[in-house]
Amino acid sequence: MEFRGSFRLMESDGDRLRRAGKGTWYDRCGELAATEHNNPKCDVCARGSNCGLDCTLSRLVCPKCGATA
Ligand SMILES: [Zn+2]
Ligand SMILES: [Zn+2]
Repeated sequence: MEFRGSFRLMESDGDRLRRAGKGTWYDRCGELAATEHNNPKCDVCARGSNCGLDCTLSRLVCPKCGATA
């Protein structure tokens, strides 16, 4: 499981066959986080591969309690 600030990345069963990094972020209060993907791709992804991480994820925001990461 991956953590970022107060958020954690949950991978659903349906994502098991896919590449990693496609899970859903939840805040510790239980709310589904809003995500922004504004980061540039890492070297691996820029070459057309998949690093397995959500490397373009730039920001996580909890719409319920206002937490950000
Ligand atoms: Zn990457
Ligand atoms: Zn929250």
